[in-house]
Amino acid sequence: MGAYINFDLLDTAMLCGIDIKRNTLFAEEVEARCPYCCDRRYRMYLSRLTNMFYCHNCGSGGNAVTLYADFNPRGLRLNNYESFKALLNEPSVKRYDLPQITEKPEPPIRALEERSEIYSEFLGLLRLEKEHLANLLKRGLDSAKIEGNMYKSFPTDKAERQWICDILSSRFDLHGMPGFYRADRRWKAVGQKSGILIPVRNKDGLIQGLQIRFDTPPVKQVTNAFGDKTEKKDGRFRWFSTAGRGFPDGTGITSYIHVTGDVTSDTLYLTEGGLKADVASHLSGGRLFIGLTGVQNVRYLKEVVTSLHPKRIVECVDMDIRTNPQVQKAQSKIQAICTPLCEEYKRFFWPADQKGVDDYLLFRKLKKEHEKKIKEENKNV
Ligand SMILES: [Zn+2]
Repeated sequence: MGAYINFDLLDTAMLCGIDIKRNTLFAEEVEARCPYCCDRRYRMYLSRLTNMFYCHNCGSGGNAVTLYADFNPRGLRLNNYESFKALLNEPSVKRYDLPQITEKPEPPIRALEERSEIYSEFLGLLRLEKEHLANLLKRGLDSAKIEGNMYKSFPTDKAERQWICDILSSRFDLHGMPGFYRADRRWKAVGQKSGILIPVRNKDGLIQGLQIRFDTPPVKQVTNAFGDKTEKKDGRFRWFSTAGRGFPDGTGITSYIHVTGDVTSDTLYLTEGGLKADVASHLSGGRLFIGLTGVQNVRYLKEVVTSLHPKRIVECVDMDIRTNPQVQKAQSKIQAICTPLCEEYKRFFWPADQKGVDDYLLFRKLKKEHEKKIKEENKNV
C-alpha cells in the first residue's frame, strides 16, 4: 500500500491569507470567511480532524491542495498537480505522510443527464405538503407551474425518508449524487428539517441540483467575542449536498445557476435564488430569468450567459441588500463578467418597499387586479 503526502490545511489557509475567526483557531472546526463566495459570516469550516474544508454558504469544499491552487499568495491559477508541487516548497506548511487507506476520495459528481434523471425520480416519490403549496401560491405561482416545476416537500419523517431512499437506491446507484450518503450499508438523504425542495435547472430544463428552502432558518451555535455561546440564524436556502467526511460516499455540489423562462429571448434578467427566478419569470409572462444561488456565486455565470447569448442583461438584485459593500462588490463582478457578453447591461430599480424583483412583480400584478376590480365595480354601479 502506498503512502501519500497530506498538507496541513490550516497552515495552507494562513499562507493563502484566508480570514480566520480568531476565537475558533484552536477548535476542531475552524471558522473562516469563504474566499470562493466572499461570505461575511465565517461559514467556511476548516476541519482539523479531516483536514478538509467546506463552505455552508456556497458549498465549496476541498483540501489544502485545492485551496492553494485557487488562492495561493502569488495569485496564480494552478491545477492540483502544480499546486501539490508548489506546496512541497512551502516551508510553513506541515506535511503528513499518510497511508492511502485513511482517505477515500469523494466520488465525482454524476453527469448532468444522470443527475437530472435521478433527482426527477426522487422528486417523483415526494409530495408537496399543503402549507408549502400555500406558500408557493402566495408568491404568485399557479398550481400548473408548481406542478410543472416539481417543487416538493422534504420528508421529515425518518421512516418515510428511509423508505424513499430505499426505493431510489434500488433503481439507481447513488454514488456521486449530492445530498445522499451511506450509513449502515443503506443510502440516506441529508437533513431533517422541513422545507421546500427547489430544482435548480439548466437552460434545457435538466435538474443540476436541488436547493432546500427551510421553513424556519436553521440556527447555529456561535461563540461571541466574550466567549458566550449565542444562537445565530443561518441562511434559509441550502444546497442538498453531502460534501466532506461526515457523509460517507457523499458528494458535494458547486454553485450551479438556475435558468427559467423563454430561453430564446434576447433579454436576460438576473436575480438571486432559483425560486425567486421562477416566480419572477412566471409573473412577467415567462421572461428569461437566471437565478444565482447567492450574489457572489458567479462560477458558472460566464458559461451560462454565453450559452443563452442575450442582447440585453438586466440585473435585478434585491433592493434591500444593495447598500451592503460585499453585495456591491459582487454586483461589480457580475457586471464585469456580463458586459462583454451582451450589447447592453443595466440595473433594474424598483421601490424599496418590495425587497425582491418577485415581490415587486407580485405587488404590480395585485395592484393591477385591484384597479381592474374597482373599475368594474364602478361600471356596475
Ligand atoms: Zn463559500
